[in-house]
Amino acid sequence: MKFHVLSIALTLLIGTLSFGQNSNIDHFKTNKGNLTIQPILHGSAVLTYKQKTIYVDPYGGSKLYKGLDAPDIILITDIHGDHLHQSTLDSLDISNAIFIVPQEVAKKLPETYKSKIIILNNGQAIHRFNFFIKAIPMYNLPETEDSRHPKGRGNGYVIDIDSEKRVYFSGDTEDIDEMRMLQNIDIAFICMNLPFTMSIDQAASAVLEFQPKIVYPYHYRGTEGLSDIEAFKKLITSENKQIEVRLKNWYPKD
Ligand code: ZN
Repeated sequence: MKFHVLSIALTLLIGTLSFGQNSNIDHFKTNKGNLTIQPILHGSAVLTYKQKTIYVDPYGGSKLYKGLDAPDIILITDIHGDHLHQSTLDSLDISNAIFIVPQEVAKKLPETYKSKIIILNNGQAIHRFNFFIKAIPMYNLPETEDSRHPKGRGNGYVIDIDSEKRVYFSGDTEDIDEMRMLQNIDIAFICMNLPFTMSIDQAASAVLEFQPKIVYPYHYRGTEGLSDIEAFKKLITSENKQIEVRLKNWYPKD
């Protein structure tokens, strides 16, 4: 009995220590395997499931990705430098990676990537490894010709992981109908920075409508500094306590 108690204590201690190494990583147990999600910077995150790793919008230099598994899939949402960041891509080991990107991003990637690129436009989907990846529109409102993010150019993504978890990355968008109509999202990454995407009120209104189980504010650095993600959390939890808001440090100081 004593040994049993001791071993439980040890397991807890080791668990605490290993999770303590990087408190920014979240672990999700599923019936088929474990998913980890690590916020990196601004709009970039790394997902790992069954030894396959997805980099979303790698940005900010190789140092931020040091020690992580090399990507099997790189998802890019849009052409802007905080999403398609060539010098970061140049610094990563992309030898085994496929790029899943919208047409306009594909046009800007180097010729040498050609055999690695799969073009996915709004509404299209693809199955790779245990991931079913669907491109969702992302755009600014109202839809004007000089829009920073015209409809059709960039992709948000819904990643269905082994039919166990559905993860949504909004990309740079406002609270569009296509977001509000999403269903059965387990984990949502929602942008909120002005004047590029949307306010915390717009983001909260959309999230309260499509009701993901967990929401991470991300991509929240605007021209006036960082958006008030604590206030975003209050907007959500005051209306719906079933939605968990996870605040992470997406802007690490080096
Ligand atoms: Zn952006």
